[in-house]
Amino acid sequence: MQSLMMDAPLQIKTMLWRAEHLYGHKEVIARTDDGFDTFTLAELGRRARRLSNVLTDLGVRRGDRVGTLAWNTAEHLVSYYAVPCMGAVLHTINTRLSDEQIAYIIAHAEDTVLLVSKDQLPLLERLRDRLANVRAIIQLNGVVPTEGTLPVPVHSYADLMAAAPEAYEYPDLDENTAASMCYTSGTTGDPKGVVYSHRSTVLHALGLCTTGTIGVSEAERYMLVTPLSHVNSWGMPFACVLQGATIVLPGDHPVDTDYLAIIDHAKPTVLVGAVTVGMLVRRALEQYPGKYDISSLHTLWLGGQAPPIGEMKWWKQHHDIHVTQAWGMTEASPVLTFCGLTTANQHLDDEARFEIFGSQGQPLPLVELKLVDDDEREVPWDGTTPGEVLVRAPWVIRDYYDDPRSAASFMDGWFRTGDIATMTSDGYLTIVDRAKDLIKSGGEWISSVALENALIGHPKIVEASVISAPDPKWIERPVAFIVVAEEVSVDELKAHLKERFPSFWVPDRFEVIDELPKTSVGKFDKKLLRSEFL
Ligand code: ADP
Repeated sequence: MQSLMMDAPLQIKTMLWRAEHLYGHKEVIARTDDGFDTFTLAELGRRARRLSNVLTDLGVRRGDRVGTLAWNTAEHLVSYYAVPCMGAVLHTINTRLSDEQIAYIIAHAEDTVLLVSKDQLPLLERLRDRLANVRAIIQLNGVVPTEGTLPVPVHSYADLMAAAPEAYEYPDLDENTAASMCYTSGTTGDPKGVVYSHRSTVLHALGLCTTGTIGVSEAERYMLVTPLSHVNSWGMPFACVLQGATIVLPGDHPVDTDYLAIIDHAKPTVLVGAVTVGMLVRRALEQYPGKYDISSLHTLWLGGQAPPIGEMKWWKQHHDIHVTQAWGMTEASPVLTFCGLTTANQHLDDEARFEIFGSQGQPLPLVELKLVDDDEREVPWDGTTPGEVLVRAPWVIRDYYDDPRSAASFMDGWFRTGDIATMTSDGYLTIVDRAKDLIKSGGEWISSVALENALIGHPKIVEASVISAPDPKWIERPVAFIVVAEEVSVDELKAHLKERFPSFWVPDRFEVIDELPKTSVGKFDKKLLRSEFL
């Protein structure tokens, strides 16, 4: 028997509708080049419709991809609604990727129009011959240069918006229509495309509004430092609009003292950012004691990596600020677990609570999760037996976009996360290792395999193995162990790698050893390297 309930599609425009009708007076406070652009959620809706008209005039149709190369600005936030609500697909491009990767994903996604902050124009000029599908570029800020070397017209966002009408009737869309795209950075080889739907976006946003998670609420003011250019800024631009929460955006190129000045000015209650952002802000506070008022903050939601417990304690002790974490990934919209205390844990003393806050927490409502061993057998939730985490949820991918590598990431309808974890009997997950051969430095991925291949390609190197070493500033840094055929200087090796990779990929340490330890099957034994040398 079928139900008689409405089949009302889950759509992003419904979240915007709620903000406009219930919370039209609530604010977005966005840092600009010369101050702050403070506007209401009602205005966000008006700007979104204007931008939809602009894009329609430039020929963007349903299903077309609109790329963004931009910071956390008002213009970028507007595109989060303008593009999906008109039925097109917002492709946020991670500006931290290499030129080669960005060229690949613009071509692979077949972006038709690019919304670009002015500092990204030189990048596009370098890629000018690889923008085959791009018909137009909209420069988001600053004066558009009259002379340029780009093969397509560059328009001024401000001029186009000023001339665009405010009315736009958003269509009703099937909830499985693609809403946005993001490419993974954590992979060897080309990035892999993830396509989010209206349905997954709405459900993920609702997940973030439930208690036991960050619990997005109208009463709070969220400063979104997590990039709008990567995994939808952890879904917060949607959850905040849905709930009418105040949004604070740090703008172009923020540095540590900018974060403090923004907190002082916009009075956020919750800061959402990568673990390294929390550490950056802490150091700036220590450097300028008493200069900035950060008393509005009560919570830091830090993620992308596990926040060190020492950092959590520092924030609690010095500012009575609670540090919380979630675990997730690009393929999962991204949030899968969130760390809070259940009633059974409320009685615990501070030390025991910090132990729990050091874990990645419990799965969000609607997220199913299991751990499997190397033979793909489920392991028990006993807090000690590790296994690869497999997940299933309405906001997890079922396939990568047009990618032959997809199959390896799935098992019987479950997504293989590549993270190794233990799980307690009450469902608290702790990531203990990574099956993927990657290093996460300052929240950004470095492929150890790609570095190893490049090093082995150097004529003076016989063998190379790159592992992750703990680092007080970046949490992890790559260290290269090499066996050499003849003497080679560190500068020479660094120059060799800099030609091929972004500079933050280049290891700070190169250790020359006689022989690399190997496992029984002849692979470099990275565990042994780690335990012997680090
Ligand atoms: P993001 O850039 O948003 O972190 P990615 O997809 O690039 O997303 O990275 C996801 C990976 O980051 C996870 O698979 C995991 O290895 C790591 N990660 C994310 N959050 C945490 C966390 N809280 N603790 C430990 N590792 C984490």
